[in-house]
Amino acid sequence: MAQVSIKHVEKVYPASTGRRHKPKKGNANLKVTEEGVLAVEDFNLEIADGEFIVLVGPSGCGKSTMLRMVAGLEEISRGEIYIDDRLVNDVQPRDRDIAMVFQNYALYPHKTVRGNMEYPLKLRKVPKDEMNRRVEEAAQILGITALLDRKPKALSGGQRQRVAIGRAIVREPKVLLMDEPLSNLDAKLRNQMRSEIIKLRQRINTTFIYVTHDQTEAMTLGDRIVVMKDGMVQQIGTPQEVYDSPANVFVAGFIGVPQMNFYDARLVRDGDAYRVELDGISVPVSAEKCARLAARGVDTQDVTLGVRPENIELAEAGETSLTGSVETTEMMGSSVYLHVSVDGKDSIIILQNVEEDGRRPSDIQVGSSLSFTFAGSAVHLFDK
Ligand code: ADP
Repeated sequence: MAQVSIKHVEKVYPASTGRRHKPKKGNANLKVTEEGVLAVEDFNLEIADGEFIVLVGPSGCGKSTMLRMVAGLEEISRGEIYIDDRLVNDVQPRDRDIAMVFQNYALYPHKTVRGNMEYPLKLRKVPKDEMNRRVEEAAQILGITALLDRKPKALSGGQRQRVAIGRAIVREPKVLLMDEPLSNLDAKLRNQMRSEIIKLRQRINTTFIYVTHDQTEAMTLGDRIVVMKDGMVQQIGTPQEVYDSPANVFVAGFIGVPQMNFYDARLVRDGDAYRVELDGISVPVSAEKCARLAARGVDTQDVTLGVRPENIELAEAGETSLTGSVETTEMMGSSVYLHVSVDGKDSIIILQNVEEDGRRPSDIQVGSSLSFTFAGSAVHLFDK
């Protein structure tokens, strides 16, 4: 295990130089300076010994670049990376005591599973007995003992990914880096491998840095998650902290399925009390949610109001409820998602325990009118 310190790290890809690996197409809106494209901007993170960190964000936001800089596969343009107090900026990848698992597995096709897993140990001249012990232990942890004599082409995608992980963990690295390791698997296998990674984490002593664009993976795997957008860190926190207190509209919309509902609203102070007004309704909110408004010393402010679908409640039509028409219903087993259009804008409501609350989907017809509200304690307020 090891601590990893990332201090003010930046990556600039010069506009005109040759590309060492093919850049992915992304929807990122990165800064372009005279030096080139700023793929990672002032990244700071202290990773504790044995921690599982997930870098998450949309495609092209700089996650892989950051990971590759820790691995030593990409030069650092500015800043410092330390692995256990050792500055590694100029240390070769093989001397960093790290291992990396790639999305495309990168197995040697002509070697057996055993041959693939032995390879990094052979390079390091690990004695035969020790090599066998480590390969067999890793194979046992990953449930691939029976496959040790097969070649990669005789393996399923999930099995190949296990071998790739096996090849990384036989080295007993201080830090295990994983770049979208589950993206090439189908949904069912992905869920299964996600729990395998949780189990793996309990069995091996290493620090993990894991890259994904999938917020569910991030939420379920990470001790802490780092949400990135356009090369910049948006928020760092435990999954619960990020879910409960998103730092901005981007994080609020990115984390959580289905997505948070957003409304244009006005925050109003009335003496010591606060309320939000939107579409003609008014909902009281607690002073602690309005600290920024209070600090500004003004009485009103335009805000973006966010409410998670599960915090919306059905209500009678009235002064504190919004009314819209049901556009679609999605049956999800024990709950139903209702898409309700209010003045042409889609809101998502989750009805839970559909068996018990009496409002089964058949009661809610597409096209019918529906009113809903939310508690002031459940809203998130963001500056405009
Ligand atoms: P992510 O992993 O979040 O999808 P990447 O780190 O792969 O994002 O890429 C971040 C940005 O840097 C993207 O805009 C990408 O096109 C660009 N990029 C990545 N690698 C290179 C490279 N070798 N040369 C130039 N631009 C690159």
